[in-house]
Amino acid sequence: MLDEAVTRASVRPVSTHRLPPPPSALRGRIVIAAVAVGAFAAAGAGQTLQAVGAGSSTEADEVTPLANTSDGAAAFGVGGNNAGPAAPQVLPVAKLVDPSAEASKLAKSQRITEKREAAEAEAKRPKVVRPAPGVFTSGYGGRWGEMHYGIDIAGPIGDPIYAAADGVVIEAGPASGFGLWVKIEHADGTVTVYGHMDTFSVQKGQQVTAGEQIARVGNRGFSTGPHLHFEVWNPSGMKINPLPWLNERGVTL
Ligand SMILES: [Zn+2]
Repeated sequence: MLDEAVTRASVRPVSTHRLPPPPSALRGRIVIAAVAVGAFAAAGAGQTLQAVGAGSSTEADEVTPLANTSDGAAAFGVGGNNAGPAAPQVLPVAKLVDPSAEASKLAKSQRITEKREAAEAEAKRPKVVRPAPGVFTSGYGGRWGEMHYGIDIAGPIGDPIYAAADGVVIEAGPASGFGLWVKIEHADGTVTVYGHMDTFSVQKGQQVTAGEQIARVGNRGFSTGPHLHFEVWNPSGMKINPLPWLNERGVTL
């Protein structure tokens, strides 16, 4: 009994150590799993899968279906060397041009140009002009025993009459002796007076600029022929000789 028991006891442990080797199929699955893990890591590192199985041709053969898959990395969803489409693209946003900002800059530039051109035109524009294109026929002073408080510029009925300088119309309508008249007050308080016109085209309170047409030459009132009677009243209201006033401002008749 004892011998048998001893024998069994001594044999069993031995037998338990004699486990059969794992079948080749199981061994293959283990290798595939190991290589698969390696392939995943290799793909993640941007390396080729062939390097994983290079050490053993047998193992490499066993994992051929996986290792030879050229898109192995893509199959795993891991970016490789040529995984461009799967990778997010970083756009150079900072270098993009903002169309509205460009349009705003352009508009600002145009406004500056327009302001400069307007300023240049304003600087070039005459501040005092000849009030009518006709012929100077009579000056300021004593004439035929009477005082003539202005100058006469003769011209056909309908010739344009211009504001001599910038100002505001303070009178436009009938006036004794003048037939019709227009009076314009200028910034320094000087007033210019236009008389005998056939028609006028401005009204009281209207702002006018030098050279702007205000009326047409006529023969109304005490007039001996179509002409513009032109007067200049200084800021004190004194009727002064219009010729030097015009000459001093660059206008000759
Ligand atoms: Zn006159």
